[in-house]
Parts: sequence; C-alpha cells; structure tokens
Amino acid sequence: MNNDIYDLMVIGGGINGCGIANDAAGRGLKVMLCEKNDLASSTSSNSSKLIHGGLRYLEHYEFRLVKEALAEREVLLKNAPHIIWPLRFILPHQPHLRPRWMIQAGLFLYDHLSKRATLKGSHGVSFGSDSPLIKPLKKGFEYSDGWVDDARLVALNAVSAANNGATIKTQCSCIKAQREKDYWLITLQDTLTGDTSHIKSRMLVNAAGPWVAQLFSDAMDIPSPKNIRLVKGSHIVVPKIHNGDKAYILQNEDNRIVFVIPYENDFSLIGTTDVEVNHDPSDAHISQNEIDYLVAITNKYFQHKIRSSDIVHTFSGVRPLLDDESSSAQSVTRDYTIEIDHKEGLAPLLSVFGGKITTYRKLAEAAVNKLQAFAPQMGPSWTQSKPLPGGDFSSQTVLKQQLQQQYPWIDVPLLERYVRSYGTLTHTMLNNCHKQEDMGVHYGAGLYQCELDYLVKHEWATSLDDVIWRRSKLGLRLNKEQKERISQAIIN
Ligand SMILES: Cc1cc2nc3c(=O)[nH]c(=O)nc-3n(C[C@H](O)[C@H](O)[C@H](O)COP(=O)(O)OP(=O)(O)OC[C@H]3O[C@@H](n4cnc5c(N)ncnc54)[C@H](O)[C@@H]3O)c2cc1C
Repeated sequence: MNNDIYDLMVIGGGINGCGIANDAAGRGLKVMLCEKNDLASSTSSNSSKLIHGGLRYLEHYEFRLVKEALAEREVLLKNAPHIIWPLRFILPHQPHLRPRWMIQAGLFLYDHLSKRATLKGSHGVSFGSDSPLIKPLKKGFEYSDGWVDDARLVALNAVSAANNGATIKTQCSCIKAQREKDYWLITLQDTLTGDTSHIKSRMLVNAAGPWVAQLFSDAMDIPSPKNIRLVKGSHIVVPKIHNGDKAYILQNEDNRIVFVIPYENDFSLIGTTDVEVNHDPSDAHISQNEIDYLVAITNKYFQHKIRSSDIVHTFSGVRPLLDDESSSAQSVTRDYTIEIDHKEGLAPLLSVFGGKITTYRKLAEAAVNKLQAFAPQMGPSWTQSKPLPGGDFSSQTVLKQQLQQQYPWIDVPLLERYVRSYGTLTHTMLNNCHKQEDMGVHYGAGLYQCELDYLVKHEWATSLDDVIWRRSKLGLRLNKEQKERISQAIIN
C-alpha cells in the first residue's frame, strides 16, 4: 500500500487521459495516471491524424462539435507547431453525390463558424494536366485543416503532466476501484510482472476509451451511466501515389468519405472505414473487405492504380462512440460527454464517453473544471496559451535553421524529422553530442542510440513498437534485422 493520497487518479493513457492528467497537474493537483499498455497504444495512435473541424459532421448537424473543433485547430497549431501543421485538402466535385451548392454552403460554414488566424480559407479549383486524379475529374474545392502526429501528441501531454509533477505509470492496469467514503482505493497490476499495488485517491477519472463501460462493470462493479458503440476504422499505407503536400478527400457512393494523405514523405495514408464491432477492442485489425474498399475508392479517383500487394503497413483503431441510437455506424455522433458520479460525502468519479483527438484539450479543460467543486484549491485553466513540450518556437523553418547551425554534422533530412518530432526537445535529445560519433550506435533509418535512450528515459518507451510505431514511424523503413537489434537494445 502506498500511503500517499493522490488528488486525482486517471485510468487510461490515451489522448483524453493524458490531456486530463496534464491539465489537472498543471493546476496543482497531485495526479497519477495508469495505462495498461503503452501510452496511445489503443485508439489514440490509430486515428487519421487530422486536427479537423470535420466537414462531414456538418451533414449530421453536429454544429457544437464542429465549431469547437474548428477553433481548437488554431490553438493546437500554435501550441504544438512541431507535431501539428496546416494541411490543404482537395475535394474533387462529383455532382451526382453532393451538389455544388451543398459543398459551397458547407465550406462557407467551415470557414466562418470560428475565427481563423493562420489557416487559409476555401475556394474552388480546376484540375490541370498535372493533376494526379483521373482525367474526367476537372473541378473541385480546396480547404484547410491540420495534420497531427497523434501518438506523439499523447506522449507530449504525458511529458508535460510529468513536468507538472504527475506520476505516469505505463504497463499498469487498474483492476479494481472501490469507493471508501471520501477516497477511492485502487488496485493496480503491473502487466509485465503481475504484481499488484494499492493507491488512494480523492477523485477518479475513467478515460479508458473503448473500455470505458467495461471498467465500470469489471473494476467498480457499478453500471455504466452511458452506452458506447465500438466502431472500427482502418487505414492502409502505400508508397506515395501523388506528389505535392496536399491531401485528398474522396466521396464514395455509400455517402462515406475517404482521405488520401501525404505520409512520412514517401508514402500515402489512405482511410478510413466504419465497421461496428463487438469483440475485444485490442483485437482490432484490418479485414480483407476493408482493404478492398480502400483500394477500390482510391483507384476510382487516382490515375496511379494501387493493388493490395502495394500495401506496406496497415493499422486499425476502435472509436469509443457515445451511443445515440443512430442507425448506421458512420452517423453516430463524434461529440463527447463527461459524466460525473458523486453523492454527498463520497469521492467523485468522472467518466469520458466519446471525443476526438482534435477536441482533447477542451475536453480535458471541461473535465477538470467539473472537478473544481471537489478540489477548490486547484488553479485556473491554463492549457490554451501554453506550448506543449518542444513546441516553444515560432516556425519549423526557423527552428530547422537554428538546429542546422548548432548541429552542422547532422544530415538535413534527419534534422527535419527531429523538428517535426521533438521541436526544441531536440536539444535535450542531443545533449552531450558534439559530433556524429557522439550520437552512438546507428540502428538504421536515422535511429541513433541517443534517440533511443531519450525515448526510454523521457517518454516511457519500453518495447520495439513503442519506439518504431508510436514515438516515431520508423517501422516503415526498418528491416527485420534492424528491428531485432533495436528490440535487444531496449531490453538491455
Ligand atoms: C479510425 C479512426 C480515425 C480517427 N481519426 C481522427 C482524426 O483524424 N481526428 C480526430 O480528432 N480524431 C480521430 N479519431 C478519434 C480519436 O482517435 C479518438 O476519439 C481518441 O483517440 C480517443 O482517445 P481516448 O483517450 O478516449 O481513448 P484511447 O486512446 O483508446 O485510450 C484509452 C486507454 O485506456 C487504456 N485502458 C483501458 N482500460 C484500462 C485499465 N483498466 N487500466 C489502465 N488502462 C486502461 C487503454 O489501454 C487505452 O490506451 C479517430 C478514431 C479512429 C478509430
């Protein structure tokens, strides 16, 4: 038994849990977060990686969500310029799917529902001879949203929470949470050793994402106040099918849309799907039907045809959507709700249902505001104007120039990756490196010992996948032997 009493225990190290832990720790609360696997190991590393208002959600009248998400784009672009940047989207016009007036009305709302400071507005476009789309497609629209490295956003929120004094425990599952009048007695299990320990906390947050309802029944033995629907979405990664830095949003005959996004310089990321699932969310993987669906719609729009055999990587995530009794998976609300359970004299429980990566900061702020009644000593909200770790610089171009001057012996493409992964934390990672040899062993694809050490020491990386698929996407470029060497190096 750890006899310290925490103010707040957060269960779940996805974007919502880490966002809440960071917000609360920054307001002076004593916080612990437990994550049963790696940070962002579930939904939060398997998204389409867009900081977006959600143009499609306007069709479902989700004005509250879209307005909040549109405004958050500007906040997040400013606070995390290393891992979030503007992305222009091209929407080819298909008159039989959505008429011109409808798209124009949607884009007008998208441009005006909230204030834009950095993102450019929308306009119509004509496709010239250099268009990668099939020749009959002559016209379309262009608009702005943002790109995010989703898993790094989670890790950086955890780093910030820890900088603010929070204790972050990965590979640590909450197996029981019992209310003892004005505190929670929480049983944690180390998922690697099986060892258990007990923690006391005055408040509890259930941010278990796809497991939010299950945690009520399994660990707390109380009924969940809301139902969720588990909707799987999958992506494929192929060698890039078009040049340039713009993404494409493709309308399908089934009324769905699919994104084709420039990915990691040399690849295209294509997704996503909406498949309702009933199985354990940790088993999510792409089906042949989803592959066929994504390949077919891509080939319908692009001159460059792809086949299943071109796929170099796939990933799938399960959306924990708030059940609003919609008839189809794609029309279930993407908005979130925060439920508080408390009775006079009893420790409160706050649970998160639904949510988007884009709105995580607002969700966290609203959640911690709700807890203020139980912890009046906490400070005011603060995350809107504070950069995330490594995000304290004005532009990627300026930071790259500074890094080039300070570390002239590092190749420019590698420095560019550091800018977009670590921002100013690059200095911490390269601490004590004065020449290339100081960076240590090179494992391949630009991964040096200093980066590996940094991820293990400062970002809770404990396995190969943590390093090559979540803290980075180097898995796309490393071969089997290189992966094996990295794995061994982490164990040692
Ligand atoms: C295919 C797809 C595409 C998407 N695209 C976008 C997009 O482009 N933009 C956007 O804004 N949003 C997008 N989303 C939505 C977004 O990814 C999710 O809303 C968000 O990641 C949910 O975060 P979370 O923290 O609630 O859940 P999760 O990330 O799943 O985190 C919950 C965590 O809780 C842990 N956990 C569960 N039970 C326990 C326990 N007992 N003890 C300890 N830990 C536990 C899990 O291991 C997990 O890591 C997408 C989602 C999907 C699936």
